Amino acid sequence: MEREIFEIHGEKVSRGENKTIMVKLPSLYGCSPLSMPVHVIRGKKPGKTLCVTAAVHGDEINGVEIVRRLIKRKGYKKFCGTLITVPIVNVYGFLYQNRYLMDRRDLNRSFPGSKIGSLASRLAYIITNEIVSHADCHIDLHSGSLHRNNLPQIRVDGRCEKTVDLAKVFNAPVILKAQEREGSLRKTVESKGVASLLYEAGECLRFDETSIRVGVRGIFRVMQHLGIITSKISKNYLELSGSFIASSSYWIRSPYSGIFRALRGLGKTVKKGEVIGLIGSPLDNNESSVEAPASGIIIGINNLPLVHEGSALFNIACFEELQQVEKEFQSMNYIATDTHIEYI
Ligand SMILES: [Zn+2]
Repeated sequence: MEREIFEIHGEKVSRGENKTIMVKLPSLYGCSPLSMPVHVIRGKKPGKTLCVTAAVHGDEINGVEIVRRLIKRKGYKKFCGTLITVPIVNVYGFLYQNRYLMDRRDLNRSFPGSKIGSLASRLAYIITNEIVSHADCHIDLHSGSLHRNNLPQIRVDGRCEKTVDLAKVFNAPVILKAQEREGSLRKTVESKGVASLLYEAGECLRFDETSIRVGVRGIFRVMQHLGIITSKISKNYLELSGSFIASSSYWIRSPYSGIFRALRGLGKTVKKGEVIGLIGSPLDNNESSVEAPASGIIIGINNLPLVHEGSALFNIACFEELQQVEKEFQSMNYIATDTHIEYI
């Protein structure tokens, strides 16, 4: 159960208070000071603490918008417990619209960090020890890397039943059991016995309305499950019928260098042996097909037509109940690339 007085970066937040704490970071070399805003919203009654982090990769901005919509919601005083949100973890990358830190290090390979390490390591240390250390539960918001679009999905450590159950509560269309990467924020949080979900949705440097809404609704659902909010979720956030757990996933890589055209979009079913893309030459009529080696659903796609041999083209998730997943996705009319579809 949470403490009476909450303290982050030397600032105290009492029950019923709503505070933005500016966590001081190493300044830019032009002497400009830099801070990382952390919003702490505490209900009047005690309860669980949920921590939501976004933009650990500085160019993944769907999560920034998800947090913005979360904190502008009214009526938080009625809830039991605490919501901590960090809308922009990698402030350096966010400023330069870049995935990495200024020294090209990947912050999500630098956890748990060190007080005397590299810039990435120092930032990771602050997040680990001053922020996520307060949480009973953690959600990290990500999007596809440059030119890659992801169907909304939750990635969890499949070995932990508690975390898989929480992933079902979040209710994104797909759950992928993926082992944590060494040095990732998720692995660090899980190593402390705290359930951590990684939400992957949309593409970097773009807003995807479906990804944002599925994310906001998922976090509300987790808050409900933890007893932080008791109110019903708005009708604007209609329920999906449930998440589908992928039995495995694989990447299809380009067999040649050339111009790539996808024949199937995100959320679509592919059958084993089906031609789902073409690689053409920019100089002549030569064209080669890209086949799916196994049946599944496209949960990640490359949007850049210029590819080299070995470039990742499609991420396919395999399901035991593929026909049922296909039917559900069709009935949801779930095509994430169309931002006007409002099924939630
Ligand atoms: Zn990311």
